[in-house]
Amino acid sequence: MESITSVFKDKKLKLTPQRIAVYKYLKSTKEHPSAESIYKALQPEYPTMSLATVYKALKTLVAVNLVQELNVGEGNFRYDAEVESHPHIQCLSCGRVDDIMGINLMYLNDTVSDYSDYTILSNKVYFYGTCSDCNNI
Ligand SMILES: [Zn+2]
Ligand SMILES: [Zn+2]
Repeated sequence: MESITSVFKDKKLKLTPQRIAVYKYLKSTKEHPSAESIYKALQPEYPTMSLATVYKALKTLVAVNLVQELNVGEGNFRYDAEVESHPHIQCLSCGRVDDIMGINLMYLNDTVSDYSDYTILSNKVYFYGTCSDCNNI
């Protein structure tokens, strides 16, 4: 895996403390946080960092493919520092987003290519349901 330092150097982008903080936070969590959650989580350590700065840092990280943006509908986005293709599942009740591990859906690319004249390069698969916390209420 390429480090954030070499990626930013290659792209001739400035590696600001804010960009590093946002990336490190995303690397440390499996929760697929929104920009607002990242902002709140970083507040104690970076009290001067604005929500706009978090958005800008995320935009840059997504542009250089260090972070993937998940569109969870209704204009809401979540962020994931795991950029390898993997399926996600979202709870329709509380909105949490989890990775589905141990299953590879890349075989779908071959299946789908039989139904279109595209060369399929990747896919993003979302499942929806209710999580165990919500099921236990
Ligand atoms: Zn839930
Ligand atoms: Zn994920």
